[in-house]
Amino acid sequence: MDYVGNLFRPPSEGRSMIIQATVGCSHNQCTFCGAYKSKKFYIKDMAVIKKDIDEASQYRGHFDKVFLADGDVLIMPTNTVIEILSYIKKKCPWTERIGVYANTKAILRKTPEELKELKAAGLLIIYQGIESGNKDVLRHIKKGAFPHKMLEASQKIIASGMELSQTVLLGLGGTELSEAHAIDTGKLLSEMSPHYASALTVMLLPYTELGKEAAAGTFKLPDKFGMLKELRLMIENMNMKRDCFFTSNHASNYLPIRAHFPKEKKDVLELIDAVIAKGDENILRPEYMRAL
Ligand code: SF4
Repeated sequence: MDYVGNLFRPPSEGRSMIIQATVGCSHNQCTFCGAYKSKKFYIKDMAVIKKDIDEASQYRGHFDKVFLADGDVLIMPTNTVIEILSYIKKKCPWTERIGVYANTKAILRKTPEELKELKAAGLLIIYQGIESGNKDVLRHIKKGAFPHKMLEASQKIIASGMELSQTVLLGLGGTELSEAHAIDTGKLLSEMSPHYASALTVMLLPYTELGKEAAAGTFKLPDKFGMLKELRLMIENMNMKRDCFFTSNHASNYLPIRAHFPKEKKDVLELIDAVIAKGDENILRPEYMRAL
């Protein structure tokens, strides 16, 4: 496979075939993110992408989902994405689902009709990645989008019939904005009511802007129990309008949770309360086992 640099995919795409259609991220400015810092964004040649799909077609029985990498495949012209999706369906007809990461700008550039065409061609899930629902946090991390635009983009995805998966990052507001980050993120997730939502926990990378701020003492992460309180406050403010499968079981998290909201919200809050009340760090994932 023609893979350029490190590949990233959502945890739920762990068993998917990865086809790299773009290299890097068209935004690449988020101050906490080191994923594509060494890559300059470009769209790969169709011939290279199709050659990888030809190769993938030899692995029947090894995968039933495809994830199109890297960070921002939806920035490509709609016809180009449809050509890729159609070729995957032709060469790997057993593929049940194709997914991509997409940033807010890229989603908003698509018309409702284009999104429906993409869905009809096999694109069934979009991972948006909002990180926070708080304006000040989003400005600080240079996300390049604010909550009202993120909400508009998420509504377009849901209206197209595709599934929507959101990722938020605990700790992103630091100690200073921890509460506001938790409340506003919970509220934004409620308004979006995605099919899936994941809370990861920030891990500071020394070569990122946020890592440098932390080293200089101008940004401070909440401690382990501070992160749990943030998670609790966020969940308390999550009032989902449809069933949402929520996870915080990523390797970066201190306390793994898998639950359906709103059904299991009360149970999850009670669990977090019990862990906080106990105050025993041994219950939490140790630092050496945390990873991105
Ligand atoms: S949009 Fe996503 S991939 Fe791109 S820099 Fe921000 S967090 Fe990283």
